[in-house]
Amino acid sequence: MRKSYGAGASRICYQLPTGGGKTVAFAFVVASAVKRGKRVLILGHRQEIVDQISATLTGMGVIHGIISPDYPPTKLPVQVASVLTMARRLDRTAQPFDLLVIDECHHATAESWRTILAAYPQAKVLGVTATPIRLDGKGLDEIFETMVAGPDVATLTRGKFLVPVTVFTPLHLPNLSQLRTRAGDFALEQLSAKMSDHAVIASAVADYKERCPGVPAVVFGVDCAHSELIAQAFREAGFRAAHVDGETSKDNRKKLIASLGTGELDVLSNCGLISEGVDVPAIGAAILLRPTQSLALYLQQVGRTLRPAPGKERAVILDHAGNVLRHGLPDAPRRWTLRRASKSKNKAPHDLKRCKACGAVSAPSLFCSACGA
Ligand SMILES: [Zn+2]
Repeated sequence: MRKSYGAGASRICYQLPTGGGKTVAFAFVVASAVKRGKRVLILGHRQEIVDQISATLTGMGVIHGIISPDYPPTKLPVQVASVLTMARRLDRTAQPFDLLVIDECHHATAESWRTILAAYPQAKVLGVTATPIRLDGKGLDEIFETMVAGPDVATLTRGKFLVPVTVFTPLHLPNLSQLRTRAGDFALEQLSAKMSDHAVIASAVADYKERCPGVPAVVFGVDCAHSELIAQAFREAGFRAAHVDGETSKDNRKKLIASLGTGELDVLSNCGLISEGVDVPAIGAAILLRPTQSLALYLQQVGRTLRPAPGKERAVILDHAGNVLRHGLPDAPRRWTLRRASKSKNKAPHDLKRCKACGAVSAPSLFCSACGA
């Protein structure tokens, strides 16, 4: 990042896989900038992310203010802001920031982000994301000049910064060939109906019961009704399971997510909530019941399981959505670009094999990497 700025770039996109420590990485950049007397604004798109950034900065000894409805304004040189609040307060927050850091910057082509960026034309910009792609196909090159990629999943796993992962998939996946595609992904109501099929959910529950019962697991459902159905099916099978969504109160949401880490809860089912910014290293399994054509969404789902935790030697993905076959293994090498996404880029190698003995998915090889068959 420093080299790129030194070479004259002013707007950099930094890519690092989920669990790679991007908050710590940019907090280091912020701390160095503050030492040189610079003023820094860090933007997150949700309160959970703002809180997480604030906690990391505090841990690194960077004193900062928070721009959000729940906090009083301060004049400190480092501010962490939620995007919506910042966009509303632009005229009142007349601080001349020298550096803008944008967390989860694949959202940054949205209107509120553009408004903020336009207000600080002189500032250097550092966007960070695990997945520099948007579902709508827009490139990030209209905001960033250059991309800096950090180490990939395989490298981080070899260094023990992430845990290795085994992916299992059932012999029969739901047939989605008749589903319509809308805005780049499956039409949700059709998808929800398909994935709410009793046999599909029962197969996922049975899979969890057989392969990793009691391992803290997140389940990704298509929509809230689907996610609730799933939680109920897990409870009926004797597991402690709950459902969480955007409507769940903030406190309750925090409590439910935390209870996965403490072992009070086995399974937390959600629709689109836990894919970004939830940092619970104890999560050892992800159960995919939300088929998606979005590589970003898929990587964010599986990324939730990859953080190391005491006693956790490997993570398990139970893919009942066909996402791994669609997008490749979580640690497959990927080439990122700022340009508009083309369908052919980053396409999964379609040569993944399902082991007949154990159901694990791996790249073609003489032996199954999971069971040795
Ligand atoms: Zn096997």
